[in-house]
Formats: sequence, structure tokens, C-alpha cells
Amino acid sequence: MESGPPAFECRPGCAACCIAPSISSALPGMGSGKAAGIPCPALTPDLLCLLYGRQERPKVCSSFKASRETCGSSREEAMAILEALEAATAPAFPKSSS
Ligand code: SF4
Ligand code: SF4
Repeated sequence: MESGPPAFECRPGCAACCIAPSISSALPGMGSGKAAGIPCPALTPDLLCLLYGRQERPKVCSSFKASRETCGSSREEAMAILEALEAATAPAFPKSSS
């Protein structure tokens, strides 16, 4: 039986998906979630998730799957892709008009 290409795996030390998108669910110290482009408060200095496996982890995080389409081939590429996706969807935090 033929096996398909190996599944895409999350890159250690990336965390672009914990920085680039806005999150509308409550996060530690950020009851209304976070704006796009700022690191999630649950992100540790070594870029791991403090809430991993916990009930408080936003659903959007548990359901996000690493893939070539969203994660690209580098952290920089992932940031660019996720920033573009963020801009293409309704932002949870409208940009300031000033
Ligand atoms: S953007 Fe993709 S590769 Fe980077 S941390 Fe998130 S899931 Fe992993
Ligand atoms: S809760 Fe965890 S997985 Fe979700 S954005 Fe924050 S650090 Fe990343």
C-alpha cells in the first residue's frame, strides 16, 4: 500500500500563529482576547503555549492545524501568510482610524 507524503509538522520555535492573528476569546490578562500582531500572553519565552491541553486554551488554537498553506516554509513566511489571512477576514480589533 502506498503512503502519502508525510504530514506537515509544526516548526519548533515558530509561534507565528500565536502572534499574527487576532484572537477574540479570553486569554490570561486579556479578557477580550488579543489584537493581531502581538504575542499571545500565554506564549512562554521559549515559544510554547502555557495553556496547551488546558480547558482555557481558546478553541481557535486547538483547532488550528499546521499546514504548508498556513505555515509556509519559515517563520517569516508563516507571519506573512497569517497576516494576509488576518487582513482578509473581519478583524476582531478594528484598526485605529487616527
Ligand atoms: S505557524 Fe505553523 S509552524 Fe508556526 S507555530 Fe503555528 S502551527 Fe507551528
Ligand atoms: S493560547 Fe497558546 S496556542 Fe493559543 S495563541 Fe496563545 S500561546 Fe498560542
